[in-house]
Amino acid sequence: MGLMLFNTLGRKIQPFEPQNPGTVGFYGCGPTVYNYAHIGNLRAYVTHDILVRALRRAGFTVTHVMNITDVGHLSGDNDEGDDKMVKSAKERGKSVLEVAAFYTQAFFHDLERLHILKPTVVCKATEHISDMIDLIKRIEEQGFTYFAGGNLYFDITKFPAYGELARLRLEDLKAGARTEVDTNKRNPHDFVLWFTKSKFENQALVWDSPWGIGYPGWHIECSAMSIRYLGETFDIHAGGIDHVPIHHTNEIAQSEAATGKRPWVRYWVHNEFLVLDKGKMSKSSGGFLTLQSLVDAGYDPLDYRYLLIGGHYRSQLQFSYQALESAQNGRKSLMDRILERVKALPDTGEQSLKAFENAAPDLMRRKAGIYLEAFNSAIEDDLSTPRGLAELWGLLRDPEVPPGDALAGAFDMDRILGLNLAEEAEKRRGSAEPQELVEEIERLIAERGLAKKSKDFAKADQIRQTLKEQGIILEDRPTGTLWRRG
Ligand code: AMP
Ligand code: ZN
Repeated sequence: MGLMLFNTLGRKIQPFEPQNPGTVGFYGCGPTVYNYAHIGNLRAYVTHDILVRALRRAGFTVTHVMNITDVGHLSGDNDEGDDKMVKSAKERGKSVLEVAAFYTQAFFHDLERLHILKPTVVCKATEHISDMIDLIKRIEEQGFTYFAGGNLYFDITKFPAYGELARLRLEDLKAGARTEVDTNKRNPHDFVLWFTKSKFENQALVWDSPWGIGYPGWHIECSAMSIRYLGETFDIHAGGIDHVPIHHTNEIAQSEAATGKRPWVRYWVHNEFLVLDKGKMSKSSGGFLTLQSLVDAGYDPLDYRYLLIGGHYRSQLQFSYQALESAQNGRKSLMDRILERVKALPDTGEQSLKAFENAAPDLMRRKAGIYLEAFNSAIEDDLSTPRGLAELWGLLRDPEVPPGDALAGAFDMDRILGLNLAEEAEKRRGSAEPQELVEEIERLIAERGLAKKSKDFAKADQIRQTLKEQGIILEDRPTGTLWRRG
């Protein structure tokens, strides 16, 4: 069948065909590093990861570019409010670059814990200002800009295709003027390409430019950096669904205005939101959940990944600790099934489970091949990880599939799912403790995590002590609590 993707541009599932055979240029909007990523943001990056893995498995060489926004992103995507980075730096009594460095590192630590593959190129906005200035100059030369009140604006009326991605209509845009309107704008949906003195007198990071000393608007950075690394037209651009009406709409307008080439990007992939019981999760409103908060509550980051891939990326996903607990149980049963298969291998010896990872091609004419084929079709069908996961379960539950085939099939599926099955199984296989004891220890560790979270340190210490009396030593690591016999 080949990979089919839902393209927001046109709102249809389409066969994926790259502009140059065999290679894919992919740009996924990265984080604004003024705070930790919340678990909703992380859903976007898991989606990008599944997409990249699916493309690579389909045989494409993928260049995955991710930006780091460390300047110019205001609290409203429509040029409203404060600069997120500057505000955060002020609150923390640090410089903007210190804040950026700290949260960038925390972000990549989260990606690693979620088993997300590192992008091919990671690029910081502050290191690409001259690319942005060059692109803005081109937009200006083509007559799409005006200067007012010290800022350079993009004039959306000069770009007739404005809003196509989001199916916006220009008449509606005028009528739907927003509350805090920048009076310099001719149309409320015009947007800033370059800010100078008008917005913040004391902006920490500024650069010289043909329009005066200042700093770039947020949207221009994604256009400039993606064009720089992927060329003036490329294959796939992704981000959360919230980016459709403003950020991605503006990226398209300015990129196509500068180069005159349409479409700038052929496929637009957007993930739906992760929502809390209370509604939308947002970094700027505070009170959000981080990956670390899940770890502190006794969960493994991969439990969260398991929860995410249990839903389709284009459906809204409701987060609750109850759902996370089911995911934890689900992943645990999955690992138990895998370990059963490991034990049932004819001669386990010291053979590394890694050896099974490349055995999948041999499976296609055997029973396991049925599951693998169904798995591949699910992923090719707009990245249906929930159906893929069901095929993995089917494979592991089928008594007619020999253990070696089941392992080879499961590990092959895991190239997409990213649950780290082979390594996790290897780790657990190495443990000489009886299964019941391992389960009891893990239950106590989870209980201790919950106690710590609710600041019941006496109970947490008591659990540590109980385990110590049984000769079990706990070690708290950023990735979770490890245990060993002391
Ligand atoms: P930001 O750091 O705010 O620029 O957001 C990073 C990414 O997370 C973007 O692709 C957003 O569209 C996406 N995003 C933000 N909130 C959520 C959420 N609650 N669920 C899923 N994706 C989100
Ligand atoms: Zn972007």
